[in-house]
Amino acid sequence: MSERVLLGDEGLALGSVHAGLSAAYAYPGTPSTEILEFLLEYQEEHGRPHAAWCINEKTAYAQALGACFVGRRALVSMKHVGLNVAADPFMNSALVATHGGLVVAVADDPGMHSSQNEQDSRFYADFARVMCLEPGSQQECYDMTREAFDLSEKFGVPVMLRITTRLAHSRTVVKLRAPRAENEVRKAPQRASWILLPGNARRAWRSLLERQREMVAWSEAAEWNTLALAPDNHELGVITAGIARNYYQENLPELAHAPSHLHIGAYPLPVEKIRQLAAHVKRLLVLEDGYPFIERQLAGLLPQPVEVTGKLTGALPPDGELNPDLVRAALGLPTRAGVKLEGITLPNRPPQLCQGCPHGHAYKALKKALEPYDTNMVTSDIGCYTLGALPPYSAIESCVCMGASVGMAKGAAEAGFFPVTAVIGDSTFLHSGVAPLMDAVSANTNMTLLILDNQAIAMTGGQPPRMPSSRLHDVVLGIGVDPKHCHVVEAMPRQVDAIAELIGSEIRHEGLSVIIAVRECLETARRKRREAVVTA
Ligand code: SF4
Repeated sequence: MSERVLLGDEGLALGSVHAGLSAAYAYPGTPSTEILEFLLEYQEEHGRPHAAWCINEKTAYAQALGACFVGRRALVSMKHVGLNVAADPFMNSALVATHGGLVVAVADDPGMHSSQNEQDSRFYADFARVMCLEPGSQQECYDMTREAFDLSEKFGVPVMLRITTRLAHSRTVVKLRAPRAENEVRKAPQRASWILLPGNARRAWRSLLERQREMVAWSEAAEWNTLALAPDNHELGVITAGIARNYYQENLPELAHAPSHLHIGAYPLPVEKIRQLAAHVKRLLVLEDGYPFIERQLAGLLPQPVEVTGKLTGALPPDGELNPDLVRAALGLPTRAGVKLEGITLPNRPPQLCQGCPHGHAYKALKKALEPYDTNMVTSDIGCYTLGALPPYSAIESCVCMGASVGMAKGAAEAGFFPVTAVIGDSTFLHSGVAPLMDAVSANTNMTLLILDNQAIAMTGGQPPRMPSSRLHDVVLGIGVDPKHCHVVEAMPRQVDAIAELIGSEIRHEGLSVIIAVRECLETARRKRREAVVTA
């Protein structure tokens, strides 16, 4: 058995390869990005599996679905908010008879280290009535991924792998097992089971509900759900999930009496094991990262008058990431004294655009163009340009979700506000800004869209956009934007005044206008120069 030092994301990626993966698709998003990055490198070295970045999570999901339609094993990975974008194919894929294994890896971000919300993907798995595995270590990332593909083929459903930031981005030794061969290409046997016409869909839904019992039975017996009853402790039972087990185990040696412990790594919930634990103790403490997913379900499962504590009762904070100290307090252990370092002041470094970032020049031009107006509105999106919200730019006023800036600007303009400008990045525009721009074209909305084209998906590490800059202009014209009001400019410092003038004149134009400000992200340009030196 060989070993490798791997991130949680990488353990998951290599587990997929060793499970016989044929195809992997993703849109970059922290903390899931490294899954596909690992697979792209693997593909370069070994010629397989097929791995590709996609326009957005929904297109990535459908491509993975196509691969499993012809019997192959496919992985689609994304961050938690990406699952909102892929929610449509995800929910419906639970009703088709998954043929090759389909694994949906979702990296949640409790604590919002680089996300706009904390949503917990286990609710999505439950909502779709599919199975979910939740690794608590890098080794489990590898092992559970292998099993997730087997489960997907066994139960004919997509299987979710839910990890969280700290596990995705920390590294340890992982033991590897012999790889399995890829599935042969073989088309799904019954056409009807992939056609969700109401008659078929109703049958598929009933079948999915019937399979719930088998899934629960599997979950009761799964090695990932382990129950250890402490014969001498009838006071406290602890339920852990995912990485919370590590925080619990770190504090365990200090407890006078080890509590009974149920670790849950696989869903649907192992109902019998939960009942067994509850019958053994007076109080349950639930330790889970994310939402109180398990804690909320316990109320309906437990007939015994057992007290349940956790995030809902205030024993743990309802938001943010768990950590060993929070778990310690919930277990009733005294606070650790810690070490105080005198005389050290850490510099306060708020996030900001890199010095000389092209977006900075575009924002300067935008602010200048808006000077004549007492009030104005600038909607924005997710990406490096979001940093324009902070001083010295303070240039944008919204950041809700990918692609929202365009639709929000349209809504505000149609509500009677003037002037309205939307800002979006090139990859975000292709991800989900194109569709609302079509709405704006059809209504000839009185707004100006600024596409900040830095030729990279910069915030997640500079992945290449799906389309080069040179073609973005054609896309905008192709969906019907008036060529007289669609411009490409270079976001250089010496151009700031000229760009400001152009934005000003397009704001005064009554109708829709688009300005594409192009200049490569400094970081990706630097990296390309370094790589060129190395290969020269
Ligand atoms: S990474 Fe690139 S796009 Fe992002 S702030 Fe830095 S220079 Fe600008």
